[in-house]
Amino acid sequence: MDHGQLVDDETVLGMIRERLSLPDAAKGFILDGFPRNIAQAEALQKMLGDLHTPLDSVVLLNLDLGVLFKRLTGRRICQDCGRVFNIYTSPPEGKHQLIQRPDDKEEVIGKRLEVFEAQTKPLIQYYQAAGSLRIVDADADVDTVFKSIEAAVAA
Ligand SMILES: [Zn+2]
Repeated sequence: MDHGQLVDDETVLGMIRERLSLPDAAKGFILDGFPRNIAQAEALQKMLGDLHTPLDSVVLLNLDLGVLFKRLTGRRICQDCGRVFNIYTSPPEGKHQLIQRPDDKEEVIGKRLEVFEAQTKPLIQYYQAAGSLRIVDADADVDTVFKSIEAAVAA
């Protein structure tokens, strides 16, 4: 992950299956950042079919590439309190021990975007065809995006 690569499908699917078998997942669950490619989506569909928990909806947080780039390169995490800041849009007040995730470094983000274009973007059509895709405009503040996600999932 530190090099902008993805963990192999078998490992991720095994982790998800294990997590979804815990009691709290029976009420429902959100997968964040998964699946990342068509093979994972197909394997996920099969696994969720086995578990009798099909996906209700797939939410795409749609964002202009320039805005996305700023969000990623600007993201800083406090080592002490765990809060997430952005040096451009929500800089920290007071004293925090800020670190940058290795995969948010500029040279790694280029690689992540390449991987997205080649592997993840085809999922948009995949889930559109399945009728489960909900597109949310993510170029807004956190509360607005959260409300849009709630509305998209409820629809
Ligand atoms: Zn802090």
